[in-house]
Amino acid sequence: MNPLDYVRPNILALEPYSTARDEFKGGDISIWVDANESPYPTGVNRYPDPHHKLIKREIAKLKGVPAESIFIGGAGSDEAIDLTFRIFCRPGIDNAISIAPSYGVYKVSAAINDVELREVMLDDGYSLPVEKLLAAADSNSKLLWICSPNNPTANAFSPDSIEQLADKFNGIVVVDEAYADFSPYPSMLTLLDKHPNLIVLQTFSKAWGMASLRIGMAFAMPGIAELYGRVKYPYNINGPTQEELLHRLATSDISANVAEIIAERELLADNLRANKIVKEVFHSDANFILAKFDDPDMVYDYLVSHGVIVRNRNRVKGCEGCLRITIGTPEENRHIKRLLDELCAAN
Ligand SMILES: *Cc1c(COP(=O)(O)O)cnc(C)c1O
Repeated sequence: MNPLDYVRPNILALEPYSTARDEFKGGDISIWVDANESPYPTGVNRYPDPHHKLIKREIAKLKGVPAESIFIGGAGSDEAIDLTFRIFCRPGIDNAISIAPSYGVYKVSAAINDVELREVMLDDGYSLPVEKLLAAADSNSKLLWICSPNNPTANAFSPDSIEQLADKFNGIVVVDEAYADFSPYPSMLTLLDKHPNLIVLQTFSKAWGMASLRIGMAFAMPGIAELYGRVKYPYNINGPTQEELLHRLATSDISANVAEIIAERELLADNLRANKIVKEVFHSDANFILAKFDDPDMVYDYLVSHGVIVRNRNRVKGCEGCLRITIGTPEENRHIKRLLDELCAAN
């Protein structure tokens, strides 16, 4: 099946808003009086490029995908998640499938768009329940959400198992790779050509250290990537953010930081495993650790009272007893280890 057959008919037929700068085609212009902007130079008086051409060119180089396969969101991947529901799911009619426990935004975004989200619990060891996910589908299932490495369980799923889903699911498989930089598996990006029903989400919020810029990406076959461009708000990434991102892409090298986070992750995991108040430390392919405690609420309160905030996942189905701890600087991780050792000694 052609993946465009899964798109909502009104989106396929959509005539996008045409900005002033879309209608203008080239030429040597010195007076810009087409967009009702202020003529006084404030530094931000002109509308930014709605098509993010310069950024797309850099991301295309960085990721090794054609610019036509890229959508860039200005509210992080959360924007791409919402637009994905809006492009494929008819409100009140279509449904989507997701692994659980997983990233909470899929559920909220589905609810906002009046789309049923069918959550399928991960199997033992947080493994991917391929057959159960496929069995949850019916003819109105348009999207299948796989987060890999998965938040909050921290493990990645093998590209083979995700490919099996892309082969067998009669809809779009969305792979959220927010933590891909920390994973031992390669990104699914290289499989976009082979599986045209695949969409890959990535972000600059985690390994790249730019959470405040709010830049997320969706990668897909050009026909699908183009739909994001039609549905998005016309100027969804502001000018200063586009400039800042370009500057950082030209000057950043994240490899040393990523290597340090991975080494620190393994060290903190070992330290936690040696601590008797910790019942289990789950395998992590991300920049955080999920750990199980007898009394997670007590540990959470204790850490807060010592100025450390972790994510309490005790009330999330499938994560009972668990706290999620982001890997910090080596000093921060050492401090957390010391606090938990002291708590253990006092109990
Ligand atoms: C953090 C995170 C994101 C990134 O969100 P942004 O909106 O890009 O900051 C996406 N997916 C998952 C699973 C995450 O944990």
